[in-house]
Amino acid sequence: MTDGQSTKKEIILKGIPASHGIAIGSAYLFIKDIPIVEERVLAYEDVLPEVERLNRALQKSAKELNKIITFAQQKIGEAKAKILEAQMMVLEDQVLINEIRKRIEKEKKNAEHIVSNEIGKYCSLMLKAQDEYMHERAHEMEDLKNRIIRNLLEERLISKLEGSIIIVAHTLTPADTMILSRNQVLGYATDRGGITSHAALFSRSLKIPAIVGLGDVSRQIVTGDTLILDGYSGTLIIRPTDAHIEEFQKKRERMFKFEKKLEHLKDLPAETKDGRRIELSANIELLDELDYVVVQGSQGVGLYRTESLLLDRDDFPSEEEQYLEYKKFSERIYPHRIIMRTFDVGGDKLSAATAEESNPFLGWRGIRVGLDRPELLMDQLKAMLRASTKKNIAIMFPMITTLAEVRKAKEYVRKAKAELRSQNVKFHEKIPVGVMIEVPSAALVISQIAAEVDFISIGSNDLTQYLLAVDRGNTLVSKLYRELDPSVIITLKHIINGGQKNGIWVGLCGEMAGHPLSVPLLVGLGIDELSVVPAILPEIKKIIRSLDYSEVKEMAMKALNLSTSDEIEKLVFRFFRKHFPDIPINHD
Ligand code: PEP
Ligand code: MG
Repeated sequence: MTDGQSTKKEIILKGIPASHGIAIGSAYLFIKDIPIVEERVLAYEDVLPEVERLNRALQKSAKELNKIITFAQQKIGEAKAKILEAQMMVLEDQVLINEIRKRIEKEKKNAEHIVSNEIGKYCSLMLKAQDEYMHERAHEMEDLKNRIIRNLLEERLISKLEGSIIIVAHTLTPADTMILSRNQVLGYATDRGGITSHAALFSRSLKIPAIVGLGDVSRQIVTGDTLILDGYSGTLIIRPTDAHIEEFQKKRERMFKFEKKLEHLKDLPAETKDGRRIELSANIELLDELDYVVVQGSQGVGLYRTESLLLDRDDFPSEEEQYLEYKKFSERIYPHRIIMRTFDVGGDKLSAATAEESNPFLGWRGIRVGLDRPELLMDQLKAMLRASTKKNIAIMFPMITTLAEVRKAKEYVRKAKAELRSQNVKFHEKIPVGVMIEVPSAALVISQIAAEVDFISIGSNDLTQYLLAVDRGNTLVSKLYRELDPSVIITLKHIINGGQKNGIWVGLCGEMAGHPLSVPLLVGLGIDELSVVPAILPEIKKIIRSLDYSEVKEMAMKALNLSTSDEIEKLVFRFFRKHFPDIPINHD
């Protein structure tokens, strides 16, 4: 099966880490030929045998799918295997199958042509929807279509492979991921796909390291090339040097030992040794991430970036569309809480403005868009309120700059509630309303703002960029972007004090919350909640549970008295290495 390792030089690619773990091994390029379908006209006497040929192919496909489903149920559990059962339901859909049979009889055309055309119609329809979920469904439908056609043509798909391999493919369907995992698969690497694609979810359930969204990896490797696949960072190294192999073997060992130690933490609280409890929640963008969030031991969602609903579309979803979506989020995470942030468009995110802005980060962004387009804000608020009957939703406004904006935004919440009340629509009357503090002006007047909201979440990504006047996405100035700059630390402490003096909790949902080095400092500064990317959650919990609040408070006091970011970084690094000698961090 191998073409042998080619002699070309090492290449390092970056993709999206989809499933944790490190794999080192030989690549297998999985190419799934799309069956070629010809259109043939049938003689009258060939029509009935053609329908029988279709029936046989359908039976064979059902048998294959059943095998995959049974295998999936054993490997990843009944609930997750349901994704594959959807294909089975299509295969058993008598309306669709009868339509295919009827068309063969009426049009006197060969079965593969009619199957391709009839199922293809559904796929194109789904692909037209501006919705990642529907696109995924379309690819699964397509997979089923190709399965039936392959069985009509009596072609076999190679799924039995020799040896331990890393599968590289342009894209993988959930069924491919499942069936290939019957071999000794060390990892998956694909050109396409997102963190929440079903193939990514399956690989996480199967505990097979995976990287998706690698661009054109399937064109850069040949079967037999040695690969290092680092599912923690999303790094794929093709034809690595010996030094790299050694480095990643060591990392693999370290991570393995470390993760073993984390497993028992899932249901334990994020509490310091001396009893200071931190609410530890997760940042999410898509519905499918929720299952993973719970598995990781989160106490809820601290930031749901709703603007992800706007991806791949030019318009804003209606109130009804949003309501249906938010309801699913609320139900899936229940009994935990979910903080839904209103659309944060503009800046480097989706453009809300029709005119070009020369300084988008200082422009029409976040709540500014909402307040200028109240019909959009009202639709979103009403959708969130309608979805709030389980009482586990909180509303949060992004990019607040002044107290006046908070008041205006809250006025819209009151208005949305009044409209719903007048229509006898139920919602959570006491839904908590909070704001993100990520603009220095809002941080300075924190006491006034805190007096009028239910909670505060610090957006350290933006706060750092606005405090230091450093564009967070501009590599030219990235070395100036320092989360541990004294100005940032002093501002964090000011916000935390301002919130707590007003009796409300203060959290932090920027990337900093998930940086192991910063966590002891944040706890020491008195933060009440941290919301982090789901993958890092167990590690952050472990750190919190090993801390002494009294000790980190002292360390934070020291940090507040230092005058440069170098000094603060040195302090937190020393503290970290002293207390956590075996936790791997990028700083090493
Ligand atoms: C932040 O600014 O820290 C934040 C969490 O929001 P976003 O990254 O979505 O701007
Ligand atoms: Mg922000």
